[in-house]
Amino acid sequence: MALTFFPLMRIFRSGRTRKSGAFTRLRCSGCIPAPHSFSPLSLNTLSPFLPSQVTMTEDSKTPSPAPIELKGVSKQYRLGFWLAKKVQALKSLDLKVDSGQIFGLLGPNGAGKSTTIKILMNLVQASEGTVRLFGLPPSDPKARRQVGYLPENPMPYDYLTGREFVTLGAQLAGYDPKKTKARVEEVLDEVGMTRSAGMQIRRYSKGMVQRVAFAQALVGEPRLLILDEPTSGLDPVGRRQIRDIILHERAKGTTILFCTHIIPDIEALCDHVAVLVSGRLRKEGSVRDLLTTKAPAVEIGLEGLNRGQLESLTGGSAPEAIHELEGRLLVRVKGEESNTLITKIIAAGGRITQVQQVRFSLEDLFMDVVKDAGYKASPGGEIIG
Ligand code: ADP
Repeated sequence: MALTFFPLMRIFRSGRTRKSGAFTRLRCSGCIPAPHSFSPLSLNTLSPFLPSQVTMTEDSKTPSPAPIELKGVSKQYRLGFWLAKKVQALKSLDLKVDSGQIFGLLGPNGAGKSTTIKILMNLVQASEGTVRLFGLPPSDPKARRQVGYLPENPMPYDYLTGREFVTLGAQLAGYDPKKTKARVEEVLDEVGMTRSAGMQIRRYSKGMVQRVAFAQALVGEPRLLILDEPTSGLDPVGRRQIRDIILHERAKGTTILFCTHIIPDIEALCDHVAVLVSGRLRKEGSVRDLLTTKAPAVEIGLEGLNRGQLESLTGGSAPEAIHELEGRLLVRVKGEESNTLITKIIAAGGRITQVQQVRFSLEDLFMDVVKDAGYKASPGGEIIG
């Protein structure tokens, strides 16, 4: 494999993710660093492990540090030709991911999810605050070599075959060379890529690239998996497969942080969730606790009244939603208001066709949080200068 070309390739492809991205590119483009001095910027598609010889020692008397801890982390990007404008991507973010958790980072577009992940992977520097991976700063290779990373838009070296790319990931993770071949085949099989593993990545579909990049994240048997939109670009079969692998990894004790805006993925997988909106943490807690904080709503189906009549019956206590479905009305109200409304509907000549308790879903929670944060149709961080 043409290992020495990788930094150069990535330098040309990389976005300006660092403070001085343009200058970093210029400085680096003239040199080809040795593998052990690869910049993580140049390897953003690969798990940014470095093959350091350091072994981690556990002090049994002190509790092991959390896999992820962020305290007061803010990030401002500079924009414009003179870099005079700033966009506040993160604002005083505190986040702790405990060992063995599947932690979901949820938020609308531009909430700061990818920025958080890039800061953890040392691809972007926080403007303020402290960031720790297993108690170490993300700039420390000892921290990063315990992490498997799947970026949002993986861009593997497309002249490699899938198998070569995953093997490279294992080598960079410092995986035992004697066991690498077997491990590569194991993860390729896990992500369903064995048959296409000998094909150059440039011939892969988006979903196949996603799978092979996921295999690369898994191959070093990391203690922490950081997954940025892991199911994007996958068909339903692929999504299910990736979800199963995530659960399998959790059963092995791997800690997992993943960010997504696909709420069913969070509901199916996570024990803990944090909702970010416009760079600020708006809600955090265990999924179970968050979903039981609000009493269930009741959905009432009815016929014989029109929307106007129904609205006049609900009076001051506005219903959460009214929908019209093939001549029927469906109204959702708070649990404690349902009996009164049903009585009024019957008294007004309406006919009840259905009454159903509706569990408060993560989607409802998400919409509430986003609404409370004043987020409308203008995603992104705040422009502050
Ligand atoms: P998310 O992943 O939640 O969609 P991001 O972290 O990608 O959000 O973006 C958060 C905010 O930071 C957005 O307003 C986005 O435009 C801005 N941003 C992200 N990356 C950069 C960058 N390299 N330069 C300038 N602004 C950026």
